[in-house]
Amino acid sequence: MAVRILDTTLRDGEQTPGVSLSVEQKLMIAESLDRLGVDIIEAGTAISSQGEFDAIKAISEAGLKAEICSFARIKFEDIDAAADANADSIFMVAPSSDIHISSKFPGKTREDIIEMSVQAIEYAKERGLIVEFGGEDASRADFNFIVELYRNAISAKTDRLAFTDTVGVFTPEKAFQTMKALKENFDVPVAFHGHDDFGLATSNTIYAVKGGADEIHVAMNGLGERAGNAALEEVVMSLEFLYGMKTNINKEMIYPASQLVEKLTRVKVPPNKPIVGDNAFTHESGIHTSALLKNAKTYEPISPDVIGRKRSIVLGKHAGRASVEAIMKEMGYRASREQMQEILGRIKDMGDKGKRVTDADIRTIIETVLQIKREKKVDLLDLSIVSGVHVMPTASVKLRINGDEVIEAGIGLGPVDAAINAIKRAIQDYADIELMSYHVDAITGGTDALVDVVVQLKKGDRIVTARGARTDIIMASVEAFIEGLNMLMD
Ligand code: MN
Repeated sequence: MAVRILDTTLRDGEQTPGVSLSVEQKLMIAESLDRLGVDIIEAGTAISSQGEFDAIKAISEAGLKAEICSFARIKFEDIDAAADANADSIFMVAPSSDIHISSKFPGKTREDIIEMSVQAIEYAKERGLIVEFGGEDASRADFNFIVELYRNAISAKTDRLAFTDTVGVFTPEKAFQTMKALKENFDVPVAFHGHDDFGLATSNTIYAVKGGADEIHVAMNGLGERAGNAALEEVVMSLEFLYGMKTNINKEMIYPASQLVEKLTRVKVPPNKPIVGDNAFTHESGIHTSALLKNAKTYEPISPDVIGRKRSIVLGKHAGRASVEAIMKEMGYRASREQMQEILGRIKDMGDKGKRVTDADIRTIIETVLQIKREKKVDLLDLSIVSGVHVMPTASVKLRINGDEVIEAGIGLGPVDAAINAIKRAIQDYADIELMSYHVDAITGGTDALVDVVVQLKKGDRIVTARGARTDIIMASVEAFIEGLNMLMD
C-alpha cells in the first residue's frame, strides 16, 4: 500500500515568514502538485481571509485528481467556510497540550475540548466534509488525553486521525512508538505532521511511517512555519529509494514543482538542500568528475533525471583534465597536451582567487589559449538610461545582432531592469532567451565598489552562466547579459 501524501505547501508552507501567494499563484502550485501526484492538497485556511477562501474555491473547482483540503479549528465558522469553498475535506485541529488549551481556550478544561471537538466533527460530517482530526501540539500533550480525545473523535465519525509535532520536538524513536500505539488503538487511517526545528522532520516522518502511519504531511522544499515542515522531496525519495516503500508521487515532477514553488514563494532553496538544491547534482572536484564521466554512479546516489533534472559540472580550482575535456568536446574544440595544461592552469588560478568560474569565463580561457577569434553575435553599440524621482526608469539600446543594427527601448522597475528589458526586446526576433537568475556582489566596500554580476541565461534546455565586472552596476549587468547571449546564440 502506498503511503498517502498530504502536501501542505499552500497552508503551513504559506505560513513561512514572508510568504504570501495570490489566488492565481496558489492555483498554479496546486496544479503542479496534482501533476506531481500528491493524494491530498491542503490548499489553505478558508476562514482566514477572502483571498484564502477564493483560492480554495478555485482549486476545489479546478477538476484536480487530488483531494482538496482546508485547515480548520474546532469552530463552526471554520467548517462552514471550508464547506462553502467546496473543499473535499478539512484538517481540523483541537488544542491538545495543556499549554495550547490554556492559552487558546482560557478557562476550558480537557473535557470541554473533547466536547467541542465532538460537536465540530459531527457538524463537519453534516456539511458533507471528509474529516481528518488531530490534536494540535500533540507531541507535547499527555498521551492518555490524546487517546481519550481520539476515541471520542472516532465515535463522532472522524474519517482519519492526525498526530502533529507542531513545534518539532519529536525524535524518530518517539514518532515510531507513538504511531505504533495509535495504530494499535484505532483502525482509521492515521497521519503524521512533522516540523524541522531540530532538523529531524524527515527522519521523524519516515519513522512515523515505519510505525504504521498511513499518511504524512509534507511541504515542497521543506517550507512551513519557522524551520519548516518535513520536505516532500526528502521524505518521498528516502521512503522509495532507501526504505523500498511506495508513494503515488511522479518523481520526475519533483524538480519542476520545486522550481515553481521557489519562484512563486520567492523562498530561495539553499544550494546544498538535498534533492532540489542547486548543488545536489553539481560536481566540481576533478577527481570526482573524472570518475563520474566514466560512470555516473560513482558519485551520485541516484540519477538526476529520476526527479526531472540534469547533472551539471562546474569548473573551479578542483577542475581536472576530464571535466575540461568534456566541456571542450561539447564546444567542438581539441587541444594539445601543452594547451590543455595552460587551460587548466588558468581555470584553477581563477578559482584560487575565490572567483566563481562561469561558462563564459571557461570559453574565454579556452579560446584565448587556442587563439580562436570569434565574431561576436551580439555587440552593444549604444546604451542610455533615464532614471530618477517621478521618472519611470527607461533604457534605449542599440545592438548589432548577426550583423543587423537593432534599436529598442524598455522600461523597468529600476535602471538595470529597464536596460535588460530593452535588450530582451531587441533580441526577441533572433532567439528565445530567458534570464534564470541574476546575482550581484560588491567586491569592495564603498559606493565606488567594483560590482560583480553573474547571470544565468537559458535557451531551450541549454543554460549558461556569464559575468560582468564594472564599477557601474548597469554596465556590469548589461555586460554579463550580452556575454551570456553570445554563448547561447552560437
Ligand atoms: Mn504545522
